[in-house]
Amino acid sequence: MIKWTSIIFLFLLLTILTQIGGLVFLCAILIARFLGWKKRWKKLLLSLTLYLITSLVIIPHVAPIFGREPIKHREDILPATWFTVLTNRNYVRPTINKLLLKTAKKVKPQGIKIIYLDANFPFLNGFPLLPHLSHNDGRKLDLALVYENKKGNIIPAKQSRTGYGVYVNPLAGEINQIQKCKKAGYYQYDFSKYCSLGAVNQELVFSKKGTKYLVEALLDHSEIQKIFIEPHLKTRLKLTDNRVRFHGCRAVRHDDHIHLQIR
Ligand SMILES: [Zn+2]
Repeated sequence: MIKWTSIIFLFLLLTILTQIGGLVFLCAILIARFLGWKKRWKKLLLSLTLYLITSLVIIPHVAPIFGREPIKHREDILPATWFTVLTNRNYVRPTINKLLLKTAKKVKPQGIKIIYLDANFPFLNGFPLLPHLSHNDGRKLDLALVYENKKGNIIPAKQSRTGYGVYVNPLAGEINQIQKCKKAGYYQYDFSKYCSLGAVNQELVFSKKGTKYLVEALLDHSEIQKIFIEPHLKTRLKLTDNRVRFHGCRAVRHDDHIHLQIR
């Protein structure tokens, strides 16, 4: 009984975390049973090997049949953490890859690289990539903000291990949406602080000019339907395009990353 409970628990956990991990795990258990393997380390090794082959070799070739592909890496388009790639959280519709490529070329002379966070899983519209409920159709992507050193030089970096949860807080006199949402009872609004896994690169500061340049380069593309960024940053960066919107108090704060979605 306990054994089946742990199998179901692991299946659900791996499915929530990686979409295909749960199924791969079940296949590994069936194969091990068929081969009569009893040793736990053998089963674990088989699960890991099957998962890596499926995730890194098979899925990138199968997902395009269903309309999504992994984000194409270049020297100037990179994940904030390789965990995103290992867990299949890096899939988008081809339109996003095309506009990322054009944007990366445009912002390169400013020293900006595109550092991406969570995207979507490879399959099934409506299957959410938790904790982002809306990242469920290949049309959504989170990007890191742009940072600079004390001399004002743009440095491609992130400020937390996951890219989430280290904020560019409102300054005195700026609109404080965080306070407003929390006062209205939306206590989850800054829960992403628990997802940072620790702050890094704290010698860097938020780059107003770099982030503005990146957001405006993205907005050059008519395929962009919406960009979410926290209201105080929208004002600070003087972003006037009406596709730059407030995401609502039911979401989490967006002064640690930019969320984009295409039409
Ligand atoms: Zn997002």
